[in-house]
Amino acid sequence: MFALSQFPLPYTTDALAPYISQETLETHHGKHVATYIDNLNKLIENTPYEEISLDEIIVQSAGRPSEKKIFDNAAQIYNHNFFFQGMCPKCETQMPVEIIAAFGSEEDFKKQFKSAASSLFGSGYTWLVRDGDRLKIINTANADTPMVYNMKPLLNLDVWEHAYYLDYKNRRADFIDSFLDNLVNWEFVAQNLAQSQQ
Ligand code: MN
Repeated sequence: MFALSQFPLPYTTDALAPYISQETLETHHGKHVATYIDNLNKLIENTPYEEISLDEIIVQSAGRPSEKKIFDNAAQIYNHNFFFQGMCPKCETQMPVEIIAAFGSEEDFKKQFKSAASSLFGSGYTWLVRDGDRLKIINTANADTPMVYNMKPLLNLDVWEHAYYLDYKNRRADFIDSFLDNLVNWEFVAQNLAQSQQ
């Protein structure tokens, strides 16, 4: 029996400014994510889900209408932890050569990722994933997550409005540019790439 606790941010809440403000990070991590954790702990209390890991909760509840609330809250915790780990302040990390090779150039990767993130209607995430032997950019709706489709996540961008509205209002394209040009932790992506090949 366990209760999930809040995962810590890998940086301070003011570290990603001016691209993501302290107010946004405090609200996003401290309120939105905290609520998903609180909800999940209440939902799984005294159920078999209490005995298994977050990843197992996601896989086992996926596609079951009666367990949709459990899936949504569990997947949101996973998706957010992945998103926050995928950024760093003043990283100066380099896009891995495997990604450049798969998409043609650094600019082509950014163009395709931005196009996917801009076109996502409503709430969701844009991901770079490994699907078998291919690297792909995909969108998922709401809390959905690539794990369910047997794809290995390498990078994600939260494009729910709560991720950018305080800083960018309706200018989602500017938020996507800030993320791609200034925030991505390519070292984290490279580690995920290495693990995804095993
Ligand atoms: Mn979010």
